[in-house]
Amino acid sequence: MTGAMQADRRRVSIFGATGSIGQSTLDLIARAPSAYEVVALTGGANVDRLAADAIRLKAGIAVTAYPERLHDLRARLAGSGVEAAAGEAALLEAADRPADWIMSAIVGAAGLPPGLRALRHGTVLALANKESLVCAGPILMAEAARHGATILPVDSEHSAVFQALRGEDIATVEKVVITASGGGLRDWSLARLPHATPAEAGAHPNWDMGQRITIDSASMFNKAMELIETHEFFGLPPERIETIVHPQSLIHALVQFCDGAMMAHLGAPDMRHAIGHALHWPTRQDLPVARLDLAEIARLDFAAPDPARYPALALAERVMATGGLAGAAFNAAKEVALDLFIGGRLPFTEMAPLVERVLDRMAAEGCLEAQGPTLDMVLQADRLARDRAADLAGTYETPRRAGQMP
Ligand code: NDP
Repeated sequence: MTGAMQADRRRVSIFGATGSIGQSTLDLIARAPSAYEVVALTGGANVDRLAADAIRLKAGIAVTAYPERLHDLRARLAGSGVEAAAGEAALLEAADRPADWIMSAIVGAAGLPPGLRALRHGTVLALANKESLVCAGPILMAEAARHGATILPVDSEHSAVFQALRGEDIATVEKVVITASGGGLRDWSLARLPHATPAEAGAHPNWDMGQRITIDSASMFNKAMELIETHEFFGLPPERIETIVHPQSLIHALVQFCDGAMMAHLGAPDMRHAIGHALHWPTRQDLPVARLDLAEIARLDFAAPDPARYPALALAERVMATGGLAGAAFNAAKEVALDLFIGGRLPFTEMAPLVERVLDRMAAEGCLEAQGPTLDMVLQADRLARDRAADLAGTYETPRRAGQMP
């Protein structure tokens, strides 16, 4: 390859390359390998996949988050010319490597530090990691502004809003409506919900996603996170952000303007839409996604979400109203509640009450207040909320824990 051709290639790094979003991103990149120079790929435990993709895409470096997996990663990369590294510091070092476009698709609060670090270099950060904005929205947005970096939303709802707002004045927005499928338990009776198993809650009617986000979809904790993300990313007040149940998941979001016009974004439920939009922004390019046949679809349904079925939505309102460290506490408590549910130690319907009790406890302790929180404060609130959630979970006495679920 000549120097001139090299110079035309976009330098890309994918954090969380072995996950669902990461793999969809690699799918798009692998379709045009000559257009990209893969600087860094990162993963967690799955070093087989990480090494295979790093070799296939000729990455500069492959990083596993777990130092105990470095030996295996090195063995798989032997002779390939791809560097191997491990641990949190190595993730930050990978984020320092010059790149034009970086995908932030690590799951959980662990995705925040590398994303923040990448922003320092004025890069384009495609942000799938929800936890970054929920835990540390103001920090992230300020860091991007300080360094002239660009954050592009990858969550399908936020990508949809972003696209509907293109060329528009945010001051003319009356409200943003993000859609929710209602999840796998949408049609269950309220009485049956406490008995939902992780397998039942983890079956999504429309989207093919990981287990955790699919269960979050059934409980609408996922939508609660997205309401907070919308608030943080677009700077809209909570009263101008709504969610609506739309079972077909074909409209991802709508923006209503002051003249009464409503712009809806439609597309097949395929994350490569939003990933591809961010990858090619500010242009549009062909994407290998299904096209909608409206005549075949024939109808689109909507319903207001039932607050009794989806108490997580009210918690999002509370988090947005509280600000400070409430987002970090909310996310961490939700993570613990989800772990407990997946482990069969907490009923589906007890996740939201547990998160609420953590917020109550931390508010009473004055631990949610912070003017201009720092990353350290966010990480500390995250740890504290996990401890509080574990403590409070121990006090649960529910019919389910008493014997129905081992
Ligand atoms: P996955 O669980 O499929 O993948 C997560 C990625 O993060 C994997 O590469 C995993 O590595 C890596 N990882 C796990 N733990 C750590 C850690 N402690 N440190 C560093 N890396 C780690 O998640 P998704 O791809 O589904 O989601 C990624 C993010 O995007 C999440 O924040 C999610 O909420 C968000 N999102 C996802 C959507 C989806 O459709 N899936 C839609 C919109 C947003 P390994 O697997 O090797 O252990």
